[in-house]
Amino acid sequence: MSIADKIKEFHAELPADVTLVAISKTKPNEDLMEAYKAGQRVFGENKIQEMEQKHEDLPKDIKWHMVGHVQRNKVKYMAGFVDLIHAVDSLKLLKEIEKQAKKHDRTVECLLQIKIAEEDTKYGITVDEAKTILNSETYGKMSHVKIVGLMGMATLTENDAKIRQEFSFLKTTFDDLKKDRESFEILSMGMSGDYKIALECGSNMIRVGSSIFGERNYN
Ligand SMILES: *Cc1c(COP(=O)(O)O)cnc(C)c1O
Repeated sequence: MSIADKIKEFHAELPADVTLVAISKTKPNEDLMEAYKAGQRVFGENKIQEMEQKHEDLPKDIKWHMVGHVQRNKVKYMAGFVDLIHAVDSLKLLKEIEKQAKKHDRTVECLLQIKIAEEDTKYGITVDEAKTILNSETYGKMSHVKIVGLMGMATLTENDAKIRQEFSFLKTTFDDLKKDRESFEILSMGMSGDYKIALECGSNMIRVGSSIFGERNYN
């Protein structure tokens, strides 16, 4: 199936309140344009410089999401245009985003990445650490960053029950935090291999790469 057909299929099948982030990392501009022409406007990358280049080259109504781990010294390259940063995992990083967003007179929306997988290789923070950030005086004083929800990645496994358990935990956490936070509206969970389970567990933003663009070649 072509990239355009894949995009159309996702748009036809996803509920209206679910956002599809097309993860285009490593893919050439032509592939992104094919998705764009099929109606896709939200794209996700995991390297800031690659995203910056694509932002420069491609139509300006594209919304760019940074889904990868963020190094603080690179925040400045995306602060002027990034639409959503999915993987915020420290107050230090938030401070840098606040500083750089201010220079552009913008408010940058962010998600806190919660560690829900078993593997230690996955980034992310605990629920307690997330609460500490959200309730901190430092975050309370920030006016150029807004935490709008949570992101999580399940364990890479064939065991659907385990994936379901991890996503359900994140959904429960999200609902709990949302109770006294009006800004909480996005729960980013689900990738090519597990987005169906994520949707069943209450995700409203899925990040799909290889199912749209094909396997990635890192050479
Ligand atoms: C690469 C990536 C995805 C997409 O993965 P696929 O399995 O290709 O759909 C989703 N989220 C993050 C954070 C990624 O780095």
